[in-house]
Amino acid sequence: MPDRADNHFVDITRDTEFHFDCHPGVSCFTECCRRLDLALTPYDVLRLKNGLGMGSAEFLERYVIIEWDQRLLFPQCSLTMVDDGRESCIFVSENGCTVYEDRPGACRAYPVGRGASRQPDGAVREMLVMVREPHCLGFAQSTSQTPKRYFADQGMSGYSRANDRILSIVQHPRILAGYRPTRQQLDQYILALYNLDEFRRAFCEDSLSMNRPLQPDELQGLAGDDELLLELGIRWLRQELFGP
Ligand code: SF4
Ligand code: SF4
Repeated sequence: MPDRADNHFVDITRDTEFHFDCHPGVSCFTECCRRLDLALTPYDVLRLKNGLGMGSAEFLERYVIIEWDQRLLFPQCSLTMVDDGRESCIFVSENGCTVYEDRPGACRAYPVGRGASRQPDGAVREMLVMVREPHCLGFAQSTSQTPKRYFADQGMSGYSRANDRILSIVQHPRILAGYRPTRQQLDQYILALYNLDEFRRAFCEDSLSMNRPLQPDELQGLAGDDELLLELGIRWLRQELFGP
């Protein structure tokens, strides 16, 4: 979710109508891929590293800055920007995004920003804002959109679903009540959610375990399905942070 202090944000719903289109013909093409702070979710990293045919450890090493600021409850992973005078995204080219098929959820949703919060009953409440930045000329296009249609076109559903699952950790009732993970637990957070290939290796070598027998989908995750592995990572992390 972008910084709410910026006055270009307007609250919207999934059915709010707006006019917008983005294509290589707009004169601002790729402007939104520069001078930005792009936080990556675990699912963003999963998609990007697989799309690039790279292990998670190598991807984190080459493309991700992990910020360990004590004011943040959990470390923040951001995509590296290039020092080219325009702070361009490391994946942008003159022809557009070089990782388009696996671009992060925030890039897909733009100019809509999506946040979510976990309710006391465990349900997830979605919050949407329209981000109107002066450099973005997409709003001058005549194509009629709603966030619901736009998200469907941009393939957002898998991203939203996976991102919402992380709320069971970062907005766990104990976190909301003031519990703060130790540095070792924060290392576990990066391992289980962002460094999936190392998490799998550690689990397969019995360095990590669940305090119950693994379920069939969890075994499938260990056998090679990264999306199911991420789900195991979330469950394991909950066990390590909050107990059974
Ligand atoms: S990942 Fe692609 S769409 Fe997102 S900022 Fe980088 S170049 Fe732009
Ligand atoms: S600034 Fe807006 S219209 Fe221009 S490329 Fe980015 S999203 Fe598309």
